[in-house]
Amino acid sequence: MSLTRQILIAMTAAIVLGGLTQQILLIPGLNSVLHYVLNDLLTQGVFLLGGKLFVASLKLLVVPLVFVSLVCGVCHLRDQSSLGWLSLKTIVLYLATTGLAISLALLLASWWQPGAGVHMALDGSYQPPKPTPLIDVLAGIFPSNPIQAMAQGNMLQVIVFALLIGVAVGRSGDHGARIGAHFSDWNEVLMKLVTLLMNFAPYGVFCLLFTLFAQQGIGKVGDLAIYMLTVVAALLLHGLLVYPLLLKLLSGLSPVPFLLKMRNAQLFAFSTASSTATVPVTLRTVEQRLGVQNRVAAFAVPLGATINMDGTAIMQGVATVFIAQAFQLDLSMTDYLLVVLTAMLASIGTAGVPGVGLVTLALVLQQVGLPLEGIALIIGVDRILDMIRTAVNITGDAMVSVVVARSEGALNDDTYFNLRAGEQE
Ligand code: ASP
Repeated sequence: MSLTRQILIAMTAAIVLGGLTQQILLIPGLNSVLHYVLNDLLTQGVFLLGGKLFVASLKLLVVPLVFVSLVCGVCHLRDQSSLGWLSLKTIVLYLATTGLAISLALLLASWWQPGAGVHMALDGSYQPPKPTPLIDVLAGIFPSNPIQAMAQGNMLQVIVFALLIGVAVGRSGDHGARIGAHFSDWNEVLMKLVTLLMNFAPYGVFCLLFTLFAQQGIGKVGDLAIYMLTVVAALLLHGLLVYPLLLKLLSGLSPVPFLLKMRNAQLFAFSTASSTATVPVTLRTVEQRLGVQNRVAAFAVPLGATINMDGTAIMQGVATVFIAQAFQLDLSMTDYLLVVLTAMLASIGTAGVPGVGLVTLALVLQQVGLPLEGIALIIGVDRILDMIRTAVNITGDAMVSVVVARSEGALNDDTYFNLRAGEQE
């Protein structure tokens, strides 16, 4: 059975069994032994531990893999001056797709009016989280201590350090060639580790989703049904229509292999709700299944996981309209433009970990003068949306990687079109 199918079965089983467990735990006067087994032993015990270990096993690979793979990609570039152009192209595409995503979200939200009929008054009881000011995010790109950057998992700093080392290795003649060969070997070894760890995904995904659904379920939807529906519709439109169209338009490639091969990575992103934790899987998919050469993938994927959050921007767009309507505040055309701009910037400042999109939503709301208390309205249903938007986030990273690779002559067409390439049983 393919890994994708195994993960899908595990997911379905976890959602059904987790949901059932939650319902059983709600029964008043439940037998204390049954309560202990379901709650303490399974939900808060074995499965919680399993889920934590699974996410840790992915995260453990992120920093070494990004560093090694990027040094490897850069030092083997024949023409290092192309690096600037490649970076510029990637960043511009990331920003453009985020701009499209947020515009789509705003259009859909203004049409479906998710907050109409929801009446909220401010009571000042909610303390909104404080996002890091954008200027600090940008200023923090350059590392002063690479070991610290790695220890803290500061992805942008690790990327900058790897780029610098890669350039230096590439220019160091025989010394560089020896080091470069070591990095290539390490890259192979780490990729093998990703493949090995991915085999545990069905168990890991089961544990993660069981705990989630046994503990919180989907939460009270009520007034938020249309909000959720709008976010999900915009996410699906962007992921299943806009990306394939862009891929076709910008690279001339059929989007079918892309969509089929992205499924595993999307399932990882969905289960972990973290683009960063999914980096090893996205990188493996982009290189070994879609045929993007390491010199593009190693740069574009981790950068995308850090600065390209189209799904998050979609949630922020719909949430902004929803909150404005719920508090009966009007948004002008200028406000909409400001939302597009700030959501693009907020997407850069959003770390690829669960729930951060809601924190950086504060930046957008602040910009258009909406009450930050609005975040409290949607927090209850955010987790499930976070899972879907993370899957969209990483799909965007992969799509841009393929487009950039094709334009740079760094895409292996045979691998791209071979549906079994890099497949894992
Ligand atoms: N969980 C998202 C990600 O990792 C970020 C967010 O929207 O909260 O991509």
